[in-house]
Amino acid sequence: MRSVEELVQRVRARGGKVTPQRVLIYQALVGDTSHPTGEQLHARLQGLLPHLSLTTVYAALNDLADAGELRRFQAGDGQVHYDPDTRPHAELVCVRCQRIDDAPAPHGQTPLPDVVGGYRVFARTELLHGLCPECQRAVAQEERAPAGGTADAGDIPAQAGA
Ligand SMILES: [Zn+2]
Repeated sequence: MRSVEELVQRVRARGGKVTPQRVLIYQALVGDTSHPTGEQLHARLQGLLPHLSLTTVYAALNDLADAGELRRFQAGDGQVHYDPDTRPHAELVCVRCQRIDDAPAPHGQTPLPDVVGGYRVFARTELLHGLCPECQRAVAQEERAPAGGTADAGDIPAQAGA
């Protein structure tokens, strides 16, 4: 994965804008494998940059994505996610908790064809949808729970023989 310094150099070499705010935004993203949304990154940076606007975060992210320094994709949850890892790989998406992980090799790593159906191809997004290990455990537990046994402590107990 590229370092923040490398990324800043590359953005500068292209004539891109590199402000101290942007350096902090890159820093928050480099090495991040959680595929955050702009909102998530913005929330993460609030402590560091209380006046940072969501618009600034999106402008920085989209500049980087347009330049091919970030991968930008939709995961079926209506949100746009960002991945600093631009090497070809697939993503695993949990349909229950919306967690996103990088799929291990060789998923998504087959060489990209140059032309498909007359289209010149330059990018691919491959998503594998399923249940993450944690959600598999949670679902197994729910299935083991007796029917009607989902009431929590805050529920009003049912009136017996009303
Ligand atoms: Zn999950």
